[in-house]
Amino acid sequence: MPALKRAGLLVAAIAAAVGLGLVAPAHAAPETVVHQDARTAEAVAEAMALAEQVAERQQTLVALNRRAAARDRELIGHREVLATYGYHGDPDAVRAVLPLASYDLSAGFGLTGPLWEAEHGGQDFSAYAGEPLVAVADGVVTEVAYAGPYGLRTILTLPDGTEVWYCHQTDATVVVGQEVALTDVIGSVGSTGNSTGPHLHLEVRPAAGSPVDPMEWLRDRGLEP
Ligand SMILES: [Zn+2]
Repeated sequence: MPALKRAGLLVAAIAAAVGLGLVAPAHAAPETVVHQDARTAEAVAEAMALAEQVAERQQTLVALNRRAAARDRELIGHREVLATYGYHGDPDAVRAVLPLASYDLSAGFGLTGPLWEAEHGGQDFSAYAGEPLVAVADGVVTEVAYAGPYGLRTILTLPDGTEVWYCHQTDATVVVGQEVALTDVIGSVGSTGNSTGPHLHLEVRPAAGSPVDPMEWLRDRGLEP
């Protein structure tokens, strides 16, 4: 304990002892002084111990308050990140987020046309090249590879077996086998493969089977793409 703090405690302890009437006043009779010196030393020691306990408790309280404040800040930060990706509900109940913070919806699911060999199996999100793509849910990266018309594709497999495909990426920042949490950045928007401009082609394939409408899948999870 620093000398200054110790001196402070001693003063506080003596003051407390005097206040409690444990320390002999200056005009005490000489025959009581020896006896009272022992009592005084004991009382001062007790009061000091008490003062130290109080100081320790105050420090513990300060530490607890700091931890609570840090937790609050973290929670607010977490809420903000979720809101950036379209989720505004209870952070503890979040199941999914949008794959991008900023985009324009373009071609929807199920369209047919010259761009696609069959029905359009996903939802297109038109965005700037290099715009970060994030994990829409917690999962494991099961593929990062060039895949013909899909360009650079990352596949995220969710715990229930659903595959989420991110296509036409410029680059990927995750590797196969990596576990990701929702809102983790996995790569960026690009125009690789069969693409007429930078966009994300997002596919959602329950049980790694046929694709379903990503818009419905996202809406079912409280999102409004
Ligand atoms: Zn598409």
